[in-house]
Amino acid sequence: MEVKLAYMTWDGVKSAISKEKMVILPTGATEAHGPHMPTDTDTHQAEWIAVELAKRVDAVVAPPLAYGISKTFEYFPGTISLSIPIYQEMLFEIGTALIRQGFKHLLILNGNRPNGTSNDSVARRLIDDLDQEFDFMVTAVSYWEPGAMQIHNLRKSEVGGMGHAGEFETSFQLATRPELVHMDRLEGVYAPLVGWDLVAPVTPSRTYRRRPTPETNHASIFGDPHKASEESGKKMLEAAVNGLVEMIENLQPSYEER
Ligand SMILES: [Zn+2]
Repeated sequence: MEVKLAYMTWDGVKSAISKEKMVILPTGATEAHGPHMPTDTDTHQAEWIAVELAKRVDAVVAPPLAYGISKTFEYFPGTISLSIPIYQEMLFEIGTALIRQGFKHLLILNGNRPNGTSNDSVARRLIDDLDQEFDFMVTAVSYWEPGAMQIHNLRKSEVGGMGHAGEFETSFQLATRPELVHMDRLEGVYAPLVGWDLVAPVTPSRTYRRRPTPETNHASIFGDPHKASEESGKKMLEAAVNGLVEMIENLQPSYEER
């Protein structure tokens, strides 16, 4: 059963809408992910999880937003970042198009941490602007959030090792696209632990600092990729997808009915 909107004809999409299938919009990024991983890491991961989730809950997946908020790594070649207002506007227009066509549940599934707060704002704005005209709901979540505790329990790195291009993301790539990962290029690379992780335990505050540059020998890594493995990746991905399935199954359909 095809789940990607991009591979369907318009009447195939029409039929998905009439069956009231949820539509998942993956939001990714094009940005430096260390000397060992491709710049489309976040986009691939958001879309990969979206497809697995769609198969489990009978949903469809819209083409991913491949550019996100990546200003942090703008000094690294290959990083292409949108500004926050433009990113939000693009997401809002894509969301509006899907809702106007009749989708009743939009899931904005994030794969790049800095997109997250914007995705929440856009989800809010879609409801505020369109709920008089259309009966729908929007869910915004980053793919690692519902299963965060289970993913944390599988880690080999210390806390602070699973930020950006660290153990978690590197394991993800090793489990899904090993041919694009160059672990040998990590030899001698300094990748210190950071004060945050993609998964629990995580501080509720966010601190924004001066951005890293290649000139200061920064590797465009926040965390510890040396601890990554294909085996961990497979288990972490299973935990992430299971967490999302459970989240979707437990959603309250609306404020009116129960
Ligand atoms: Zn990433």
